[in-house]
Amino acid sequence: MTDLVIVGGGPAGLTTALALDAARPGRASEIVVLERARYPREKPCAGAVGRRGDDLLATIGVRVDVSGVPISGMALGAAGTERTARTGTIGRVVRRLEFDAALAAEVRRRGIRVVEGAKVESLMHRGDGASARVDVVTDGAVFTAPFVVGADGVGSVARRALGLPGATMLAQVLEVDTPAVAGDRPRDLLYFDLHDRELAGYFWDFPTLVDGEPLVCRGVYQLRSGTSAAEGPPGPDLTSRLGARLAAQGLSIDACKRKRYSERGYVSRERIGDDRCLLVGEAAGIDPTTGEGIAQAIEYGVLAGRFLARVLQGRAEARGWGRELARSRLGVDLRVRSRLARAFYGDARPELEAMLVSGDSAVLAGSRHFGGKRHDLSTLGQVGWNIGRAWLEHQLHGVTRSRVGR
Ligand SMILES: Cc1cc2nc3c(=O)[nH]c(=O)nc-3n(C[C@H](O)[C@H](O)[C@H](O)COP(=O)(O)OP(=O)(O)OC[C@H]3O[C@@H](n4cnc5c(N)ncnc54)[C@H](O)[C@@H]3O)c2cc1C
Repeated sequence: MTDLVIVGGGPAGLTTALALDAARPGRASEIVVLERARYPREKPCAGAVGRRGDDLLATIGVRVDVSGVPISGMALGAAGTERTARTGTIGRVVRRLEFDAALAAEVRRRGIRVVEGAKVESLMHRGDGASARVDVVTDGAVFTAPFVVGADGVGSVARRALGLPGATMLAQVLEVDTPAVAGDRPRDLLYFDLHDRELAGYFWDFPTLVDGEPLVCRGVYQLRSGTSAAEGPPGPDLTSRLGARLAAQGLSIDACKRKRYSERGYVSRERIGDDRCLLVGEAAGIDPTTGEGIAQAIEYGVLAGRFLARVLQGRAEARGWGRELARSRLGVDLRVRSRLARAFYGDARPELEAMLVSGDSAVLAGSRHFGGKRHDLSTLGQVGWNIGRAWLEHQLHGVTRSRVGR
């Protein structure tokens, strides 16, 4: 009998399958992954994988061996200045076309069934108590299991089946691959450009390797948040914004293949499952501040796979998934980033931006976090102190502004 059906074969779904198999060996054939596309399949993504993702995969014996660009640090441009920090290898830039296909091949190698070209259309709960089942209906067949994982990304069908809101933190993202130009940062750095304050987001330049050719992936991230982000004001036009930035770099957006997509940010008060279905990765929500989601998808997958092993052994209940996430390192990280997104892209931005580039501590801490490296207390203390100071300054400026306005 099938124990688990996983909807979606991106990093979150594939890692869930691998982690469950690692925690409960010998039952791989009872796990099914349904993927609507066929590998190798494209996924719009700049492909920067934090080393903490690769390190976590290594804990379940998985190594994704694909070409990429090693990354040793970050550069951050804001408030007319720039800060750079290098902290040893903190990750790599891969092509999702290759990365996801290699991960899926590893899943198959372990005896787990991956059904490609299977587009899930609906999920139907039937029965009660211990005999309850979920029918997962695809365009060609019905798969039945006691538990289902929704790992089907930003447009998640599983999420809709749970009756959850489409997105209260939805980002629009546009990216292109171009040749390198004079002024690009060294190829071991991820560059974030926060200078355009009309964006609730940023531009990026990441080194990338496309069919062996060293190129630069450039893009723009714009967060829209509210009770129904998808229906809120449209925000700045991303094509003209990115076009203007490329023009300033001596490039033409018209000469580039544009890839446009959305991302779902994590919102802590929202449910991420019920007694039969668990959401992971972008179906649940990833970092809304930067839109980073690959390492989070892997973290979700490892946590969910281990949790499901306990559920299937009768040692935990699936409805406890929300609590499991909340008390995990990933849950704490997502809550912090969700709050940060609201503060940073709100009216405290000038002070917080000035804080970010007032020294090296913020970019150093960000770089270490991305790489899964241990933080040193003095850097963290400095960041905490700077945030406190920035917040105080924001409050004082707020008072001054309102007095001036009277
Ligand atoms: C332009 C852009 C740039 C980005 N850059 C980065 C970056 O540099 N670093 C980073 O960490 N993150 C980045 N992200 C975020 C990252 O791509 C995602 O957060 C990550 O892919 C989430 O993984 P996932 O497995 O949850 O979902 P996905 O990778 O979206 O996988 C979902 C899978 O489900 C399948 N699926 C969907 N619907 C169905 C269905 N109905 N039936 C069956 N299968 C289905 C899809 O085909 C897909 O394979 C970027 C995102 C965008 C849009």
